[in-house]
Amino acid sequence: MNILVLNCGSSSVKFQIIATDLDRIAQNTDERLARGAVERVGGEAIIMLHAEGGAAQRSTAPLRDTRAAVDLIIRWACSESSGIADVRSVADIHAVGHRVVHGGERFTHSVLISDEVLSGIEDCIDLAPLHNPANIKGIVAAREVFGAWLPQAAVFDTAFHQTLPEQVYLYALPYQLYRRHRIRRYGFHGTSHRYVAYRYRQLRGITREETNVITLHLGNGCSAAAIRAGNSVDTSMGLTPLEGLVMGTRSGDIDPAIVDFIAAKEGLSAQEVESLLNKQSGLLGISGLTNDMRDLLDEARDNNDRRARLAIEIFCYRARKYIGSYLAAMGGADAVIFTGGIGENSAEVRARVCEGLEWMGLELDAGRNTAHAGGREGVISRDGARLAAYVIPTDEELLIARDTVRCVRGVTQRY
Ligand code: AMP
Repeated sequence: MNILVLNCGSSSVKFQIIATDLDRIAQNTDERLARGAVERVGGEAIIMLHAEGGAAQRSTAPLRDTRAAVDLIIRWACSESSGIADVRSVADIHAVGHRVVHGGERFTHSVLISDEVLSGIEDCIDLAPLHNPANIKGIVAAREVFGAWLPQAAVFDTAFHQTLPEQVYLYALPYQLYRRHRIRRYGFHGTSHRYVAYRYRQLRGITREETNVITLHLGNGCSAAAIRAGNSVDTSMGLTPLEGLVMGTRSGDIDPAIVDFIAAKEGLSAQEVESLLNKQSGLLGISGLTNDMRDLLDEARDNNDRRARLAIEIFCYRARKYIGSYLAAMGGADAVIFTGGIGENSAEVRARVCEGLEWMGLELDAGRNTAHAGGREGVISRDGARLAAYVIPTDEELLIARDTVRCVRGVTQRY
């Protein structure tokens, strides 16, 4: 089956076309046929389209909305010039898989999208007011472009973390707030944490039940997960993606009283403070320079910039603290896995996150650590380390495509 994977944001549509099926999943022979992104939808959009084996095509075009972007992607994919041999018409796309950010407590697994599921995703808009509406637009656009009969699946960022136990997901707030408004920790990046845990057990040749790891997704957004016996038992993001680790522009954990304090001192509304915590904090806020870790590392090295150094230090310290707390929460683990743009590429950040953890058995091998960049997968700890370390590049799109196949084929999913 050729699966179109769509990740629709408020002004962007990212996509991949992946050839997969149940036997391909079993043999690990899925094949990516194309990928690309349309950014700045709503104005003069920036378009990148890339068929495997060919060169990336870059262009701009005025695109009104998500529907226009999906339409453009499909017309390109089906055209002679795209060079995708297996896709000649819309009939060659056999299903669509959508990344959906919030599935609340209702969606514990990926599902085929029906009207009922769509209204369930709508019910979660309260919890993800920026993301779910964009995901819904993508689903509706694909329905319009392909016809309502084409199977579409929703793969939720929150679903993998639905195994969190009650004492982990509940905040110590008046219980009726949970009952009335479902205020609790949900966690995000679930598809990424799930994928790297799955790859880890494949690399180790072990079962799901034997998988006890801490996964660190360090990208522009960052989160950690504690995975015991293959299940997510704790994670750093909460009701929203703001909680937890320091991120590109998000603060991560803070004292909640700061919100009112900033509001009073700076004359801002609660909404404006929330926006400040989401968009002007984290690496950007501390450094005053950028949210881009690569630039900060350059700045710290080349110019010894104090605030760039501080931003990196605070980022690494927070991640280290989470490793320690998850080891305590899980009663030990077998490995720490790094993924995401920073986790996959920066040996320096990985080394600094693990600094001082030798006493708990986490010993990096400097040569292996520096050798792993640019999507190279494997072990970066010393042989015999009690707590191993791995770099595993994430592939959320692959998991979305596979879940879509499983939904279409009616196969029970095991997370
Ligand atoms: P993501 O959101 O997963 O795409 O990750 C984006 C982040 O990864 C940005 O902060 C980038 O600066 C960072 N990144 C990508 N490559 C490197 C690198 N070689 N060294 C350090 N950070 C990197």
